[in-house]
Amino acid sequence: MTSCIFCKIVEGSVPSSKVYEDEICLAFMDIQPVNSGHVLVIPKTHYANLSDLPSNMGGHLFQVAQRIALCMPKTNVKSEGVDFFLAHGEAAGQEVFHVHLHVIPRYKGDGFGFKFSPSYDILPERSELDAIAIQIKQQLEK
Ligand code: 5GP
Ligand code: ZN
Repeated sequence: MTSCIFCKIVEGSVPSSKVYEDEICLAFMDIQPVNSGHVLVIPKTHYANLSDLPSNMGGHLFQVAQRIALCMPKTNVKSEGVDFFLAHGEAAGQEVFHVHLHVIPRYKGDGFGFKFSPSYDILPERSELDAIAIQIKQQLEK
């Protein structure tokens, strides 16, 4: 038996408030919403993180999240904008190790936001950006 809370939601042994379902994915309300209307979109199959996720799956999750985001202003949810958020790894804030894409309705003054490090205000040199870009490009070309 799985110990993964999202697998339990998929199999129906843990209740959830579903907003969308197809053969590949499920979308349901987050139990502890950042803002009212916060939805999670997950693959029905258990993939712990992005390393395990088949590349075509990410596109499907995004498409469903996009549809949900565009629905929000037509509901009673307060939604002047929407954030997508996906934590890959503990250091990135991942707490549930079953891939999930957050769809978070946003409005001015909602109090949610990223916390930046003190160095955020100091823009890196172009040479530093270029050096990092080269490394990423090289990895992508492998
Ligand atoms: P993470 O920090 O891993 O990106 O986000 C995990 C999310 O899963 C959190 O927003 C948390 O509120 C949500 N969550 C955890 N357990 C449950 C649950 O049992 N049901 C639902 N609907 N959401 C959950
Ligand atoms: Zn799972």
